[in-house]
Amino acid sequence: MALKAFLIKYGEIGIKGKNRYLFEDALLSQIRFALRDVEGKFSVSKEQGRIYVEAQGEYDYEETIAALKRVFGIVGICPVLQIEDKGFEDLAEQILDYIRQIDPDPARTFKVHARRARKNYPMDSMTINCELGERILREFPKMRVDVHQPQFNLYVEIRKQIHIYSETIPGCGGMPVGTNGKAMLLLSGGIDSPVAGWMVAKRGVQIEATYFHAPPYTSERAKQKVVDLAVLVARYAGPIRLHIVNFTDIQLYIYDQCPHEELTIIMRRYMMRIAERIAKESNALGLITGESIGQVASQTIQSLYATNEVCKMPVFRPVIGFDKLEIIEIAKKIQTYETSIQPFEDCCTIFVAKHPVTKPSLKVIQRSEEKLQEKIEAMVDLAVSGREIVVCK
Ligand code: ATP
Ligand code: MG
Repeated sequence: MALKAFLIKYGEIGIKGKNRYLFEDALLSQIRFALRDVEGKFSVSKEQGRIYVEAQGEYDYEETIAALKRVFGIVGICPVLQIEDKGFEDLAEQILDYIRQIDPDPARTFKVHARRARKNYPMDSMTINCELGERILREFPKMRVDVHQPQFNLYVEIRKQIHIYSETIPGCGGMPVGTNGKAMLLLSGGIDSPVAGWMVAKRGVQIEATYFHAPPYTSERAKQKVVDLAVLVARYAGPIRLHIVNFTDIQLYIYDQCPHEELTIIMRRYMMRIAERIAKESNALGLITGESIGQVASQTIQSLYATNEVCKMPVFRPVIGFDKLEIIEIAKKIQTYETSIQPFEDCCTIFVAKHPVTKPSLKVIQRSEEKLQEKIEAMVDLAVSGREIVVCK
């Protein structure tokens, strides 16, 4: 069947009035972004409170569905058969044909849902429902009407053209990116942070990201892996500006001045401080990390307390209550997992002490940081101003 159009269903809770336009416009632009690499030409439009994607000529059906399934805010994708209005007889014939193509010998309960969006059509919705229902019963003797829990819902919308659809492919839900401000993701090469970024983007938040690398201790390839991950998250979240911060000197300085078992915590505090500074410059209103309680020494409740203390901005930790396996499940679903498990060094792990503190005392950490007073401000300034910015899409 030559289905060339898709009706896009989206959740409408809380999007009344002016918000509705913002929501729909963001959705249109995210759909266009998602389709840009799909084979074929598409028009994406909004009419009478509905969003349509129409292929202009040849296109790749499977790829189109896959791309639309990555757009936050879409709850359902309905492949639509569009036909010209050549009178009711023709419509009835085409509908019988449509059903035959789905199943030559259908034995299902069904319901017809006609909607007359064009009021000058000579029959009203009720009459269309009854007439079409009768034709279907006559043509397919094993079908039965069930208006309460039909197995097969046939939608017929009378517009300039007539739209026929019956299938709804589930979308990924959420809110269109761009409807809920911006946040800064601390993106490492691991499994957790890309998932965390994806989860926050799903709520409509635009994402920027900061990655700390430590050349020559971390390689060019490790950095490329993070860029690759940002590109993968961008398939859902739209283009991501990735700030790559050279953390080597700061790390070495902390290593020289502070007790080694506190190194990870102090380093993490500087990551948060720097990410917050860049976030402010980017007008982001929150930070995102892939932390999960108890996963490693730097993520005990005491460590999280000590890390969090340096930030004024809210820190979003969407995987905080997830087990590793639950995070992996999402990473696989969003296809970041294979990239995340490539074995490249992370700057966090390079100078790690054998026995890092697991219950850091904030007072003790603050006292250790005093030893950095002389140079740290200048080093942070340099790291921030010297950062590299890559737009990942
Ligand atoms: P992930 O799998 O996300 O890398 P992890 O299990 O390796 O997490 P940690 O290394 O303790 O855990 O990092 C916790 C969080 O801190 C990460 O999820 C990420 O948000 C941030 N983070 C860690 N290392 C870096 C880095 N090099 N650059 C940017 N953010 C980082
Ligand atoms: Mg990590």
